[in-house]
Amino acid sequence: MNTQAPRGKQPDEIRRDFPIFSAHPDLVYLDSAATTQKPRRVLDAIRDYYEQRNANVHRAAHTLATEATVAFESARARVRDFIGAASVGEVIWTRGTTEAINLVAASLREMELTRRDIVITELEHHSNIVPWQQLAAKIGGKLKVARITSGGEIDLEDLAAKLGDKTLIVAFNHVSNALGTLNPVAEICALARTRGALVLVDGAQATGHIEIDVKELGCDFYAFSGHKMFGPTGIGVLYGREDVLETLPVWQTGGEMIERVSFDGTTFNRLPYRFEAGTPNIAGAIGLAAAVEYIQSLDRAAASEHEHRLLALARSGLQQIDGVRVMAPDAPRSGVLSFVDEDVHHQDLGTLLNEQSIALRTGHHCAMPLMERLGVAGVTRVSVAPYNSEEDIARLLDALAKARALLA
Ligand code: PMP
Repeated sequence: MNTQAPRGKQPDEIRRDFPIFSAHPDLVYLDSAATTQKPRRVLDAIRDYYEQRNANVHRAAHTLATEATVAFESARARVRDFIGAASVGEVIWTRGTTEAINLVAASLREMELTRRDIVITELEHHSNIVPWQQLAAKIGGKLKVARITSGGEIDLEDLAAKLGDKTLIVAFNHVSNALGTLNPVAEICALARTRGALVLVDGAQATGHIEIDVKELGCDFYAFSGHKMFGPTGIGVLYGREDVLETLPVWQTGGEMIERVSFDGTTFNRLPYRFEAGTPNIAGAIGLAAAVEYIQSLDRAAASEHEHRLLALARSGLQQIDGVRVMAPDAPRSGVLSFVDEDVHHQDLGTLLNEQSIALRTGHHCAMPLMERLGVAGVTRVSVAPYNSEEDIARLLDALAKARALLA
């Protein structure tokens, strides 16, 4: 086994930042793609807000409200810098990736459109399929699905062939939650731009692992969830390019998103508020900003190298087992490695691994069409974060051998 120590903060030190591992010392948590664990810094930020600053934002004249507003808007500015957005107007708080994608789809539905076709890929999570399927049906467009190669990567030729003058938007993930494939975002954005289409990137599996610069990527929209990058649940972000957001109709309506209301009509607030109706998730935004700070406190290159090393160890261990097939073994990847056990049903495997304190996920991973395309009922997914260690992978492989021996 490779025993080379990672640079930067060591996994043991990182692990100590996460109280859950003190509560469960034996836990091997390999399900960070579903949701990451939360560092103390995030938990403290949320508690501090509720204990020291709790008030509603933007409206009241009192001091607490000012403090809450400053904390909330500073969180937005931190996220702006984290993803390289041009202004805070481009950072819209949502409940998560799913809501961010729904916001764009719902808003496009209200527009006078000359283009109606939508291009996605076989690699997508349900949240980047169903809103587009619904939109296409509503506006009378076609949902076109770009194929993946036998290696589990987006087939760029097929994608290019599916783009045309009628393409309204291309939506695809930065990293596949089911296979871990890391997709060539900038290249696809450039391709879509040559055909005049909008691009939305589902970044749910990317922001916790990869440095993001939305301007360099060249996308119009970038969606992500706080809970997959050490932040709380219930908060996420839709980045939208300002000139594109300016053309989008509002979606949810009510308080906060208005400038002036009378019974004769309403004028809407400026960006980003016109897409944020109602009291926002203030604690969530503050928690997400603390998660960003936490990520920035790590040596990101070292963390990424460490994760790659863990996945490489898992891959070589799994490939030595007869009857186990690693999915997309040679695709560029980030954070995730999946496999199929030809001899043991994935549900049984999940249960037996859980009995040995290995927490991971088996099944369709909200990507049923992808499973169908791959001809499998489900896969077993190993997903890592900087708090995982080589010992975690060794324990996984050991537990897997025991589970298979039991069922053989
Ligand atoms: N896209 C991808 C690639 C995901 O992994 C997930 C979460 N599993 C989502 C979208 C949806 O994220 P959320 O449930 O946080 O909205």
